[in-house]
Amino acid sequence: MQTPKNIAVIGSGLVGSLLAIYLKKRGHEVDVYDRRPDIRHTAFSGRSINLAMSVRGWKALAEVGIEEEIRKLGIPMDKRAIHPMEGEVYFQPYGKEREAIYSISRGVLNKKMIDLAEATGARFIFNSRVWDVDLPEAKIYLGDEENAPWTPVKYDHVFGADGAFSRVRHKMQRRSLFNYSQSFLESGYKELTIPANADGSHKLDKHSLHIWPRGKFMLIALPNLDGSFTCTLFMPLEGKYSFEALTDEKIVEEFFSHYFADVRHEIENLKKDFFKNPTSTLVTIKCDPWTYWDKVALVGDAAHAIVPFYGQGMNAGFEDIMTLNDLMNAYQDDWELIFKAYQKLRKPNADAIAQLSLNNFMEMSSKTADPDFLLRKQIEKWFSERHPDKWVPLYTRVTFSTKPYAEALKEGDRQKAIMDQVMAMEGIRDQWATDEVEQKILELLESH
Ligand SMILES: Cc1cc2nc3c(=O)[nH]c(=O)nc-3n(C[C@H](O)[C@H](O)[C@H](O)COP(=O)(O)OP(=O)(O)OC[C@H]3O[C@@H](n4cnc5c(N)ncnc54)[C@H](O)[C@@H]3O)c2cc1C
Repeated sequence: MQTPKNIAVIGSGLVGSLLAIYLKKRGHEVDVYDRRPDIRHTAFSGRSINLAMSVRGWKALAEVGIEEEIRKLGIPMDKRAIHPMEGEVYFQPYGKEREAIYSISRGVLNKKMIDLAEATGARFIFNSRVWDVDLPEAKIYLGDEENAPWTPVKYDHVFGADGAFSRVRHKMQRRSLFNYSQSFLESGYKELTIPANADGSHKLDKHSLHIWPRGKFMLIALPNLDGSFTCTLFMPLEGKYSFEALTDEKIVEEFFSHYFADVRHEIENLKKDFFKNPTSTLVTIKCDPWTYWDKVALVGDAAHAIVPFYGQGMNAGFEDIMTLNDLMNAYQDDWELIFKAYQKLRKPNADAIAQLSLNNFMEMSSKTADPDFLLRKQIEKWFSERHPDKWVPLYTRVTFSTKPYAEALKEGDRQKAIMDQVMAMEGIRDQWATDEVEQKILELLESH
């Protein structure tokens, strides 16, 4: 049992709310500050990011007994539905039978997590912006404006769960030996909606993550409980095929009718929404260290913002919290050791999932429609069904396992090197489900 402490969590997003639940269950006093008003009582902002929750996220929720409650908010998706430019939709199951990721609205999930955290006794203080942190003192400074007088509040520990553009991290950045990098993709995204049918049913298969891969850009759609789909168009910000080039309603209409013909008419308010909804950017943020003595630690996007193409940002943030909890069990009141070990365990994994997410951007946007890539995946699947102990596909390792991301990245590189050699075999495109191919892979596995 740890000695109860007074702890501030800055940020009531998904990761901050989960952290509050864990800390309360350990007997600490927890205050959660957020600069936003309480999202449970504000009008819907019009943006409805959907998240894919996978095994890591579920495990973190299960540990504090809230998994079942949250599952009710999600829709299982057991496959990708690929919509090519020409021809029929085809399906790529994600894993073995019944393995699925869950589509959940970020807003709905966040409201529920705040409810659950409050029910455990965490205190939420909304409309309260943290401007500064005295790191050695674990003292936060709250105020309405940057130049108005701030109110200091002292704690035993402070967690920065304040997202990609974290103020807590900003303070750490001003110290020497703090490494920081941010790197924006040249692509951004915009959200659009496919409403439900009149009877409330979904217009597309609701147990699929739909993808329209078009090389430099792609559209995806994830189902919502109310029968609608949230679509996201990922596309370069500038250039020939870009947000910048889609300047008026006529051009947008032509673009969608040409590239997304099978779904154009389902996106009801396309032309209005396209110009009303913001175009957002995508960033990878890395920093080091994540902690300051035994006083301050960063969690979630504040420590590691990644691009969303593996659907792991929140899942990785939830894993941070589970790791911290394990370390609190191991080291009890030695918070310096807890924070040191937390950073040591999590940083390589955060870097690995950042890399995997960037790699998957390529895979989702261009390769899902490439015949060689599809054959490669087919061969991998065939081989892994024959030798499940020898070949776990990369997507499965990341999404349906809780083994470290860094291990998945390493194993993925090894598998890629093997498959490069398999794909170079003569006649592989004509005949691949053969003893020869199986033996070759077995041999390569021995030698790599
Ligand atoms: C398009 C898109 C799709 C995504 N899809 C997935 C997915 O499929 N699966 C997945 O796992 N992840 C996904 N993610 C990532 C996921 O949304 C994030 O990783 C997750 O929301 C991070 O949670 P967080 O609590 O760390 O930060 P945030 O959700 O950003 O919360 C930070 C909170 O801190 C508050 N705050 C900020 N500054 C201050 C301050 N100075 N004082 C007080 N409060 C402050 C903010 O108001 C906010 O409430 C996606 C992200 C995007 C953009």
